[in-house]
Amino acid sequence: MTNVILSTTDISKRFPVTQSVLSRLRGQHRLAVNALNGVSLDIIKGETLGIVGESGCGKSTLARCLVRLHDCDSGKVLFEGTDIGTLNGPARRTFNRRVQMIFQDPYSSLNPRMTVRQILAEALSVHSMRPKAQIETRIGELLGLVRLPPDAADKYPHEFSGGQRQRIGIARALSVEPEVLVADELVSALDVSVQAQVVNLLLELQDRLNLTVVFVAHDLRLVRHISHRVAVMYLGKVVEYGPTSSIFAAPQHPYTDALLRAAPEVDPSRRTRTVAARGELPSPINLPKGCLFHTRCPLAMDRCRTEIPALRPRGDGHLAACHLDTLPAKATP
Ligand code: SF4
Repeated sequence: MTNVILSTTDISKRFPVTQSVLSRLRGQHRLAVNALNGVSLDIIKGETLGIVGESGCGKSTLARCLVRLHDCDSGKVLFEGTDIGTLNGPARRTFNRRVQMIFQDPYSSLNPRMTVRQILAEALSVHSMRPKAQIETRIGELLGLVRLPPDAADKYPHEFSGGQRQRIGIARALSVEPEVLVADELVSALDVSVQAQVVNLLLELQDRLNLTVVFVAHDLRLVRHISHRVAVMYLGKVVEYGPTSSIFAAPQHPYTDALLRAAPEVDPSRRTRTVAARGELPSPINLPKGCLFHTRCPLAMDRCRTEIPALRPRGDGHLAACHLDTLPAKATP
């Protein structure tokens, strides 16, 4: 695919589960949470890719692998074709500058003892973004970019609302002039009205600064509003992936269909009281065999219990990992 800036090739990530001394003495298997189970994605320069799924589906782990806060156990993350796992020294610092992450809770990532001026000056100095004499001017520009008043520079993080703190987090990320922003549940903790303001600001900044954005969220309304393409994740795998318009108009995976039916803003004729998909999310420690969704899928067949479905094209860049070629009109109960 042309213009791919960041991509993942079959990446997996497991987290060992802490076990008691007794179970280790008994020689019990070391358990692990299978957070990512072979994720391959392309992120195109200038686009917003939305990543959605239920809590525990691996989307935040994927976000962290994209910025190398986690190293993958297998597979690769490529930035402009280079495996980021091989980057060291100055090359790693350059990658860290060009691909920035914004976290769900800016409060925990902003030093409460530093003013906004100090926070932004520190970010500008670490990557030598400006000569010392120009730092003050740049701080003013950054505050203007995220629509905070100039006097915000002299305040501490606790003096701001949640939405304003998220703007400070965005300003800090922008201070190093990144090309890719990975936003992990950027507005999940904010009130709906504030969410819209922060999301609209992000859209405006993306356009103005030609940013590529990976927008990780569980809220389908937001993802639909902001994304050019969407990847739907389930138990550490991408089950559907493609242009937002195509996925929302005609989902090709029963899990996406269930998510859309449960979302508050889809076509009322398709809406049900379904929570998302029926049943419990299986444990990521003991993954189901075959299709990971078969324990909850209303359309599961015998082959689904043994055979892993591949992501297959469904037309116009739209892919889905399901043995069915098309979904029946009413896929979920
Ligand atoms: Fe359902 Fe089978 Fe498709 Fe999996 S492969 S989503 S179990 S129909």
